[in-house]
Amino acid sequence: MTVDTLCVQGGWNPGKGEPRQVPVYSSTTFRYETSEQMADLFDLKVPGYFYTRLANPTNDQVAKKITALEGGVGAILTSSGQAASTFAVLNLCQAGDHVVSSAQIYGGTFNLFAVSLKKLGIDFTFVDPDAPAKEIAAAIRPNTKCVFGETVANPSGVVLDIAKFARVAHAHGLPLIIDNTFPTPVLCRPFDFGCDIVTHATTKYMDGHSSQVGGCIVDSGNFDWAKYPDRFAGLVAPDASYHGLSYVKAFGKMAYIVKCTAHLMRDFGSIPSPFNAFLLNLGLESLHVRIRRHAQSALTIAKWLRKQPKVAWVNFAGLPDSPYHRLVRKQFKGGIPCGVMTFGIKGGRAKSIKFMDSLKLIGIVTHVADAWSCVLHPASHTHRQLTDAQLKAAGIPPDLIRFSVGLEDPQDLIADLKQALAKI
Ligand SMILES: *Cc1c(COP(=O)(O)O)cnc(C)c1O
Repeated sequence: MTVDTLCVQGGWNPGKGEPRQVPVYSSTTFRYETSEQMADLFDLKVPGYFYTRLANPTNDQVAKKITALEGGVGAILTSSGQAASTFAVLNLCQAGDHVVSSAQIYGGTFNLFAVSLKKLGIDFTFVDPDAPAKEIAAAIRPNTKCVFGETVANPSGVVLDIAKFARVAHAHGLPLIIDNTFPTPVLCRPFDFGCDIVTHATTKYMDGHSSQVGGCIVDSGNFDWAKYPDRFAGLVAPDASYHGLSYVKAFGKMAYIVKCTAHLMRDFGSIPSPFNAFLLNLGLESLHVRIRRHAQSALTIAKWLRKQPKVAWVNFAGLPDSPYHRLVRKQFKGGIPCGVMTFGIKGGRAKSIKFMDSLKLIGIVTHVADAWSCVLHPASHTHRQLTDAQLKAAGIPPDLIRFSVGLEDPQDLIADLKQALAKI
């Protein structure tokens, strides 16, 4: 089955007389008949639901669809994209460990890594994703546990060469984790290029209608944890909180994702509401149709924008003369990575702000990848905690406007851009 069919029907196969739509199991708990049945669930001896903080059937149905879309072996939904990034790393790292991350990542993930996880004793080295493999490899230390990157960085638009990062990670016995929020599996499947774990902010294109905040972690099942029993003791060695169970021995290829639920969801509890999973699934049913329209409209508008005399620059990896063009053609189906671009207005920060304030149809909101077109000024909004040097390292010039092209008629959007340009 292709991703188009999986977007619609993946993960849910109703039988005779069963609902066509995934039911919302709004229940904290699940009933059993014997004490032993319940005990077996607590020991992870049998699969099943007992308390929604760990797992819920609605969430699992939707996670199954995303698993199929990414071509993995298992997935869990989380309450936000941030929770997905946090769990993806905490499932492998503890105090004293180290992670190599691309410097071109979402601002929230950068803060999570550089500030919050660092306070918990996990150290991060940020590398330029465009650097040669040798330079990225030089950042790896004996205590490194994983390598992290973002397929298309929000907001810089930098495209990560997944195969290059996978080669470096695997040569050092490390898994590669990729945040695949912007392209979604419809336009790019990181597992096809050697990535081991995928994360998503389902908040963005997957939902696509600004209706819920959510995240997802998908396991490819490909990384051989047992080959490095000391490095990944958390997955290989007995877990004292489950009577000495080894995740690798008990769950094989599913070890990573089962530990994510059984350990992290149990203890940190970032489960999404089943109703949010239901909303997410409505978005997924049309994801394949929507994201191609987002991408195509963005290309049309990027081509128009760069011809305007008041526009200083346009950065969109879908443009044929983008420095990432070859990589984009290899890595993204259809040759356009997403519907988000960045550009600057001549005259710098102040002119960019005046331009944004003059837009009528295109709104100023802290969001991207939504049916409604929107803009944001990262230097004064999402990334305002960063110093000028950190902004530069994250690839964000002070005049940068992030523009998420929605599903409106691109000609109406061009008319709005045109009238706002005329006001400056
Ligand atoms: C939005 C976003 C996140 C964080 O997701 P939330 O649902 O807002 O927590 C992570 N990564 C990327 C690429 C994002 O765009």
